[in-house]
This record gives sequence, C-alpha cells and structure tokens, in this order.
Amino acid sequence: MRLAYQYRLLPTAQQSAEMDRWLDMLRHAYNWLLADRFDWYEQNRCPINACPLICSIAEPREQPDYYSQKRGLVLLKRERPWYADINAQVLQDMVKRVKLTFDRYLKGDSNGQRSGKPRFKGKGRYRSFTYPQVEANPIQGNRVNLSKIGALRLIQHRPLPDGFDIKTAIISKKADGWYVTLTLEDKAVPVFSSEVEPNWDNSVGIDVGLEKFASTSDGNFEPIPQHFRSSEEKLARLQQKVSVAKKGSRARKLLIRKVAKLHQKIARQRKQFHFEVAGRILNKADMVFVEDLNVKNMSRRAKPKQDEAGKFLPNGQAAKSGLNKSIADAGWSQFIDILTFKAEKAGQRVVRVDPKGTSQHCSACLNKVPKELSERWHSCSYCGNEMDRDTNAAILIKKVGLGIATLKNAQRTSVRREARAVS
Ligand SMILES: [Zn+2]
Repeated sequence: MRLAYQYRLLPTAQQSAEMDRWLDMLRHAYNWLLADRFDWYEQNRCPINACPLICSIAEPREQPDYYSQKRGLVLLKRERPWYADINAQVLQDMVKRVKLTFDRYLKGDSNGQRSGKPRFKGKGRYRSFTYPQVEANPIQGNRVNLSKIGALRLIQHRPLPDGFDIKTAIISKKADGWYVTLTLEDKAVPVFSSEVEPNWDNSVGIDVGLEKFASTSDGNFEPIPQHFRSSEEKLARLQQKVSVAKKGSRARKLLIRKVAKLHQKIARQRKQFHFEVAGRILNKADMVFVEDLNVKNMSRRAKPKQDEAGKFLPNGQAAKSGLNKSIADAGWSQFIDILTFKAEKAGQRVVRVDPKGTSQHCSACLNKVPKELSERWHSCSYCGNEMDRDTNAAILIKKVGLGIATLKNAQRTSVRREARAVS
C-alpha cells in the first residue's frame, strides 16, 4: 500500500536559493527536450495530401524517446557543467516528465483520455522536482537529508507511520513556501484485501452535481459549503484588480502573490471538504457506487429551451457555467480519488459505473422520463414516482452498480443521437 505524507520545509536562504536555481535549470532542460520532440515531428510528418513536390529531405534522425533523451543528459552536463550540481536522478526524473506529458498527449492515459499539446513552461511554472529514490532514513530529528541540497529543516506535524519505507521525495514550491512530499510503501499491507459482496443494504449510490455537491441514494444531500462561494468571489475581485494594475508594477506583483495564496487556500478548503464528505459516505455503506466521470460529458452546454411564443426559458446553463462550475469541476475527480483512497484503507470498495441515462430514467419503473437540466424534480407519469432528480439518479446509479437495472434503452437512444451528430 502506498501513502503520501507532506511536510512544510524551512530551508535556509541559501538552500532556498539553490532549490530555486535547480527549478529554473530543470525548467530550461525540460523545455529544450520538449522542443526536441516537437522538432522531430515537424521534420518527419508529411500529410499524404499535402506533400510538397519540392522539399528538402533532411537526414532522417532517430525519434527522440525517453532513453535517447536520458542519454543526452551526459552531453548536457558536458556542455553546461553547472547541471552537474543537480542530483543525477532528479535530472533523469525531469526527462521522465517529458516522456509522460508526451505519452498523455499522443496515446492518452490508462482510460484513453488524451491531454492537450504539451506546453513550454514559463518562469515560475516548473514548481517541483522529484527524488525517485531516497536514502534509507532521510529524516533525522527535525531535518530531512536530501542529496546535493543537504539537511533541510522540516515541520513534522505528524509522525510517519511505522513499517513503511520511504520511496520517493518530491520537493515543491507553493505560494507560501517549500514542501516535501514523501511517498511511503508497506509491502506487508496489500492494496485491497477485503472482498465485499455488494447487496442492497450495504451499498450506496452517489450522484455528483452542480447544484448539490453530492446526492446519495438514501435521499440525503451534501451541499456545496457557503465558504467556497465567498472565497471564489474574493478571488474574482482580486483577479479583476490584477487585470487593471500596471504591468511590472510592485502593486501588481503583490496582488499576484495574494491571488496565488488564495488559490492555495481554496484548494485546501476543497480537499478538507472532500475528506469530510468521503468520511460521511463511507460511514453509511461498505460499497459505494459512483458515476464514472470519464464517461459523463461534463462540459457540454445545456440545450436552449423556448416556450410556445419563442421566448427563451431558463435551461440550467447558468448552473453549468459560473462560480458553481469552477468549484465543482476541479473537485469531482479529486473527490472520487479521495473516496477510493479512504475506502481502500478501510477495506471498503468504490466502484465506478457508467452513468449513461441515470438522470433520464425513473429509478422505480426504469421508464424514460426525459428532463432538462433546469428541472430539479423527478415526476414519473408511468408509476407516479416523485422525488428529487438527483436522488433518483443516485438510486439508479446504485441499481446499475448492483446489476439490478440495465439502461439499454438509454444507450440505444444516445447512439442514435451520436450517429445524427456525425451525419
Ligand atoms: Zn416510474
């Protein structure tokens, strides 16, 4: 089982300057390797319908990959000897980051989700470096020993658990200072041991949404806390101030710092909230069914809705954009990760189910009851089932997860819709 512990670092001015220097050097090398990979594609691609009749045929060169770029580090250190100041493994990890970002761009992650084109990192955008290996007991007293940087003071606000080996150390620079994240592994604790047999009583379904953070199949809701909203509004005001401040001025710099700190605060509040909700949900049941967010298309705009006279009616788009969305967007996948992590630690299970059709069908009779996003109430004309639409969806997620309901009808109609979109 793997865990991560993060501690605040208190580096000396000299250590802090050295780490800043590393980050900047790593950033340059990262950008250079990225450019190297882009160059290769520029030189080697030839769209079949757009091949110029006259073109310079460059000597085909080997496609840069992880291994060739790693070998290139030797040359880098020869030409720029100051790169030898960086721990060799930290430098290699930077090459790995180039590989990962490129793989995600070309091949996609394990779910086949592709990321956007890798971007060059501007000043201050490369914020962490990784020691893929650390010495046996790096923490001595209130210091952590890191190769080539030395002993860094840290605030160990809670002790490391026993029986775990420290695998890697990630040093990151945040708005309020430096942090170290230690990943720990205990081979003795298997990742997932218990076999929970799901049934109606020990399981719960959850639906995440824009209006309420989460709705559970037992009819309860987790609202989005009010303090998120006030923080987000504060953020919007600050960002407005930044946009009118003179570029390069001291006032602007201070404002940007404030924005960064507020972002950090919001991220922490959100994480705290996610842990609390996850705790409450796992108290209810051993088996949790959640919607697979990769399948659900969150960013799609709501369809416009008109009355007979052609007047536009509220269609729920406002809920999809704006403050609520920015809160929820960044949140759900993190929340589900936290939920899964907490469940595994306690021997419980989280299962992702295909949410297709769960908002458009009746949880009691499984008939299709279409509704717009703005309709918050589920009212079934077939069986008379009346309930909140999110509760209805959560119950359906639970039923799909348990295999009681299959929403074949829903899938067929959405296939038809896709076919129409293509033609
Ligand atoms: Zn019904």
